[in-house]
Amino acid sequence: MNFEQLKSIDPEIYDTIIKETERERNKILLIASENYASPAVFQAQGSILTNKYAEGSPNRRYYGGCEYADMAEKLAIERAKAIFGAEHVNVQPHSGSQANMAVYFSLLKPGDAILGMNLSHGGHLSHGSPVNFTGLLYKVASYGVNRETGRIDMDEVRDLAKKHNPRIIVVGASAYSRIIDFKAFSDIAKESGAYLLADIAHIAGLVAAGQHPSPVPYADFVTTTTHKTMRGPRGGMIMCKAEYARAIDKTIFPGIQGGPLVHVIAAKAVAFKEALSQEFRNYQEKAVKNAKALAEELMKRGFRIISGGTDNHLMLVDLSNTNVTGKEAEEALDRAGITLNKNAIPYDSKPPAITSGMRLGTPCVTTRGMGVAEMQEIAGIISYVVRNINDSAGIEAMNKKAKDLCDKFPIYAS
Ligand SMILES: *Cc1c(COP(=O)(O)O)cnc(C)c1O
Repeated sequence: MNFEQLKSIDPEIYDTIIKETERERNKILLIASENYASPAVFQAQGSILTNKYAEGSPNRRYYGGCEYADMAEKLAIERAKAIFGAEHVNVQPHSGSQANMAVYFSLLKPGDAILGMNLSHGGHLSHGSPVNFTGLLYKVASYGVNRETGRIDMDEVRDLAKKHNPRIIVVGASAYSRIIDFKAFSDIAKESGAYLLADIAHIAGLVAAGQHPSPVPYADFVTTTTHKTMRGPRGGMIMCKAEYARAIDKTIFPGIQGGPLVHVIAAKAVAFKEALSQEFRNYQEKAVKNAKALAEELMKRGFRIISGGTDNHLMLVDLSNTNVTGKEAEEALDRAGITLNKNAIPYDSKPPAITSGMRLGTPCVTTRGMGVAEMQEIAGIISYVVRNINDSAGIEAMNKKAKDLCDKFPIYAS
């Protein structure tokens, strides 16, 4: 992209962008919630559409001059419907958390009960964490994963639903590597008279490409981000049954947001067009294959993966048998050119700022074209660094290996 004007007007911000570009180019990014959006997405997001106010929805705006904003938003909605088969779509949420907020605010009053997945077992802040608005506003009950299997225990979910009578059950995760049985959640929601919200922020790209079963036939509401496996601009989206369309649209605007980010909506439309392609389907298949390969290689090297493997694009590694904390691993690996995040593991005895685990995901490395052979090499680097955390020369050598891999698989190569 051409940054000539930015460079002369604001050299400091220009410099941060150049440095961030180098970081994203020269490090192996294994953060499971990140990806490399396409240049076409950047171009829409960086466009003149940022200038436009378009409060309301297509054909029902509170401002004049919205004809092209309408076109962009209608395209985004149509394409999202084509991908996911949803009855109604709202593409205006500024983020995944705002999409969830809109669902809650459409259904709940403060003090109502919700049932969601425990953050420390892989759930998301916006599913009832005490430090989140959901924890402040609602009476929260949480389900987790079974200590032995590392999998969601549907009997526990059913028992908690019976006991707490939630008005909504939330299913979806930020650090759970197994297929989620949306049908089973929907059965429990029906039995207990609760709404079902499926939050597919992490797995939306997999769902779009048929690599994970879709919740759309089962859930009253499906929320997602558009920037994780969907590989679009940073933002959120809500899908729901037609009967909730008006309530959701009203909660988004005027309920919790003002003007929509028309430039971001246009970029969402571009990402959705890309998601309808065969290339995208192949990409998601490869991301899952890569995750399996990475998990297997790590297990071969003695690492414990929560639940014993992965069905999706990510995995949680339990470091408790290595004498290294999540925090130490994250820092040492960053010196070796691998960026990932420390992550609490289920039943973690260490605080969230330290943790006994790390989360790894393959969306970024798969976008840059890496495959199974590279996953094996990356597993070797990770294993060396975690087991030789004080060996600066060795870590330096690993950093060289990581850099060579990055050079072989350039980002935004034409
Ligand atoms: C990332 C994530 C979100 C929130 O997305 P933001 O855009 O960061 O607000 C919500 N739910 C789940 C399950 C997520 O993984």
